[in-house]
Amino acid sequence: MIEYTPGPWDVEEGYLTAAGGRFTLGYLYKWEKDAPKEAAANARLIAAAPDLLDALIAIAPPMPPFNAPCHNNLVSQIDCAHCRRIADAHAAIAKATGEQQ
Ligand SMILES: [Zn+2]
Repeated sequence: MIEYTPGPWDVEEGYLTAAGGRFTLGYLYKWEKDAPKEAAANARLIAAAPDLLDALIAIAPPMPPFNAPCHNNLVSQIDCAHCRRIADAHAAIAKATGEQQ
């Protein structure tokens, strides 16, 4: 179950907001003087997080059962680059949601 503030999230003048600016989630330009481009890039990445998570959940295929042959008929899924990317996608979803995939 997703518990975060629903998107879209936006960044305006360093403030990360949701619901069309009705909620302030944080101030993101902490390092503005030292690395303004990096801070702006960080802000864009954070603001895109709900969209990225939704997109990843939508396209991540289910993981084959552990020790089952994968789509390439490899017994060890770790030997398949495609299956490793699927596992990485599920790990990223779990990191974002706090849920086991
Ligand atoms: Zn595979």
